[in-house]
Amino acid sequence: MTENNFSSEQLLQYWQDVKQAVATASAAVNRDPVTLLAVSKTKPAQMVATLATAGQQHFGENYLQEAVDKIAQVKQLLAQTTEGARQNVVWHYIGHIQRNKTRDIAQVFDWVHTIERDIIAKRLNDQRPEGLPKLNVLIQVNIDQEESKSGCLPQELDSLVASVKGYDNLCLRGLMIIPSKEGSDAFERTKQLFDQMQQAHPELTQWDTLSMGMSADMTEAIAHGSTMVRVGSAIFGARE
Ligand SMILES: *Cc1c(COP(=O)(O)O)cnc(C)c1O
Repeated sequence: MTENNFSSEQLLQYWQDVKQAVATASAAVNRDPVTLLAVSKTKPAQMVATLATAGQQHFGENYLQEAVDKIAQVKQLLAQTTEGARQNVVWHYIGHIQRNKTRDIAQVFDWVHTIERDIIAKRLNDQRPEGLPKLNVLIQVNIDQEESKSGCLPQELDSLVASVKGYDNLCLRGLMIIPSKEGSDAFERTKQLFDQMQQAHPELTQWDTLSMGMSADMTEAIAHGSTMVRVGSAIFGARE
């Protein structure tokens, strides 16, 4: 049993339903299922371990201290099951990055979706521990140019790509957005930017990830070119 009267059977059912929705939306645009990132913020390690044992590989977290603790707990839980021990969990940082948190982020995560300034990329690059693979990074774009939102402005993107692609310990994979609530054409505009950057920077041979779409709009995001949807509440239930 997991918390909040939410059984592991229920959790696994929600996850299967989301996987099915992702597969259906992907097939509708003639694509293989896009990557499903399960956003586990505020949810216990046991829920992550349950899904990881069932085959879910990618998990996203927003709050650093919570994530550091949870990553260690999940590792322990999976080590207790022979089946689970073989699961290779991939952790994605999707929260806002404060400058003084880059060292921990560079140590425990495999992906970071929220690069918005060169100084943050430089610090992650310098602080990525030796012996680990390159840190996969996405640039967050403030696609609707909202005062309150993180991300670089669309007009700043080209120069940020130009600097981030030069860091040896980072692998720049693409873009991430959180569109404004009002229905707009943010997905289309982001897909255009994504394609423009690929043409402008042909040396980016691993430019393959467009992180957009959440529980409420994943189908629409996939229809417009998303390659990775970040889904929390539709899998784990509402957050407190
Ligand atoms: C919480 C969060 C999500 C998941 O949101 P849901 O609506 O619960 O699917 C996705 N992306 C980011 C950046 C988030 O903070």
